[in-house]
Amino acid sequence: MPRKLFVTTALPYANAAFHIGHMMEYIQADTWVRAQRMLGAEVNFVCADDAHGAPIMIAAEKAGLTPQQFVGKIAAGRAQYLEGFGIAFDNWHSTDGPENHRLAQDIYLALRDQGLIETRTIEQFYDPEKGMFLPDRFIKGECPKCGALDQYGDNCENCGAVYAPTDLKNPRSALSGATPVLKTSEHFFFKLSDPRCVAFLEQWTQDGKLQPEVANKVREWFSRDEAGKSGLSDWDISRDAPYFGIQIPDAPGKYFYVWLDAPIGYLASLQNLFAKRAQDGSDGAAACAAYLADPDLEQVHFIGKDIVTFHTLFWPATLHFSGRKVPTAIHVHGFLTVHNEKMSKSRGTGINPLTYLELGLNPEWLRYYIAAKLNSRVEDIDFNPEDFIARVNSDLVGKYINIASRAAGFLAKRFGGHLSADLGVEGRLLLDGLRAQRLGVEELYAGREFGKAVRETMLLADRVNEYVDLHKPWELAKQAGGDDAGAAAKRAALHDVCSVCIEAFRLLTIYLKPILPALAVQVEAFLQVEPMQFADAERALGHHRIADYQHLMQRVDAAKLEALLAPPEPVAAPAVAPGGEEIADEIGIADFSKIDLRIARIVNAETVEGSTKLLRLTLDVGEARTRNVFSGIRSAYAPEQLIGKLTMMVANLAPRKMKFGLSEGMVLAASHADDKAQPGIFVLEPGPGAQPGMRVR
Ligand SMILES: [Zn+2]
Repeated sequence: MPRKLFVTTALPYANAAFHIGHMMEYIQADTWVRAQRMLGAEVNFVCADDAHGAPIMIAAEKAGLTPQQFVGKIAAGRAQYLEGFGIAFDNWHSTDGPENHRLAQDIYLALRDQGLIETRTIEQFYDPEKGMFLPDRFIKGECPKCGALDQYGDNCENCGAVYAPTDLKNPRSALSGATPVLKTSEHFFFKLSDPRCVAFLEQWTQDGKLQPEVANKVREWFSRDEAGKSGLSDWDISRDAPYFGIQIPDAPGKYFYVWLDAPIGYLASLQNLFAKRAQDGSDGAAACAAYLADPDLEQVHFIGKDIVTFHTLFWPATLHFSGRKVPTAIHVHGFLTVHNEKMSKSRGTGINPLTYLELGLNPEWLRYYIAAKLNSRVEDIDFNPEDFIARVNSDLVGKYINIASRAAGFLAKRFGGHLSADLGVEGRLLLDGLRAQRLGVEELYAGREFGKAVRETMLLADRVNEYVDLHKPWELAKQAGGDDAGAAAKRAALHDVCSVCIEAFRLLTIYLKPILPALAVQVEAFLQVEPMQFADAERALGHHRIADYQHLMQRVDAAKLEALLAPPEPVAAPAVAPGGEEIADEIGIADFSKIDLRIARIVNAETVEGSTKLLRLTLDVGEARTRNVFSGIRSAYAPEQLIGKLTMMVANLAPRKMKFGLSEGMVLAASHADDKAQPGIFVLEPGPGAQPGMRVR
């Protein structure tokens, strides 16, 4: 019976293009899936964009797009990466698809029927200007521990303290700058602390579905307090409108927290695949449900070490208590570092996968390099350029590709591309030795020990190269020219040796095919064989004609690799001007004193009919009369926020006739040069005690 496998990678958040970490995970999973298929398994391998949540909603608003448009733009950029690196997903979908809305709601209702959903009233920060509850990362303030300014609502980057957003001093909304207020709201909780959940998860996480180090880590989360209460806390699965997500049934204005519906997206993408395959126009729901319920089906998720909680607690509990089959295995991997440094987008280090492709670097080099470093444990792997060059140039090209290039020319020129079926005793021994490693290599792939599989295969390549060095086909070729019996024997020996090389090359290609799928296709064309499976290692090519040898793989050009790793060119020098623009040309104090700056009280502020940008301000500058000033600050301030405030104005600016009336001066406000990069307009305020009419100097 062939294995039946449903395999996923983690769903990438649809707020940015892929980075090299995504590609590492996809290469790992794709290699595993390809190996399983070469063993005869039936695999469905899917992924999707994780489309929901506040960060996408807010990013879309900033970009002037609907969340759907924003996510659509990101999704449109995915294919070039996946095709570029040979990642063969059977389907790519979105968690905002109709399948996911339906599945998430069905699953929630099943959990509610089980008595595992509870509502509680909680207090949260609310942005009164934006009219929305604020996610932790959109609240900033002073660290309650060390007092560092401008820290996020969940932890301090200065001292590392972790706290609740309500602990921040002087909190403000990162969206509007407003001071958030505490507001109560009803939230929905998945009762993970329910004894049924605890009992199920204690069993599920400890019965071999997780890597030992992951199972050990997870076990700590179950530790009980003195009263015997489990350490698992209930999980807040709801968010208030406005939110880009899936509506909670029977709860107007409430949405599922993005992490509730994201893993359900695995099932939704699979159902979408079933719908695409359906001949009868069905939505695939019934066929997909039956497939998922098959006791022989193995459900396997590849994920990074940062999302273990979601996949080892929430996800299996969600599936189990909604009456579904649970995952068979969660394969957790570490991160990819470059020169042992974690990637940082802002510093521009790291490797951009698209730049890699644009520079003409061979995607299979990266697949090979990553595979050569991967094992089944949760370890970070490091990209080291010298190591990359050595492994590709010395091992992949030097040891493996060269076997074919050394033998193919003689076979084409002297033997019309025909292989010898004899091969000689030593040749047959060598090939038997290579074939004997097949089961071992298969096991290494199945156990995700790709590094060991590569090492084993390169050791076999060493044996082939020793054989070539011993039999020296280039010398046999020199001696094989004459008509005498000696020359005929040399010619037969040359034929055998070169045929052994090609057969050995075929076996090594089978062992590397899960890692190097595009190269394997080239080799299959060269050898004139059908797509190779692992079982094909058992048979011999025998009398067989191969095609002319075409160059299969280049060596790495170190200069291109250097270009890949170079930090991006600065757009302008200096790269970042303060506030987005250069400091203006130098002036003398006389120039400055020409500008008469005064403290002004905003007596009144009102919107201007026919203008979306302007506010009409009535200013008291300590004169006998008030002044009328139009100010382009409507996007940042409601009129009532300004009335009564002190500010600064240019009092001797020539009056300007505008469409809406005369403007008698200018109020001072700060802004970034690029209001898309850093939105906001900030009207200046003097320190306490200043009086209208005082000069600013
Ligand atoms: Zn701190």
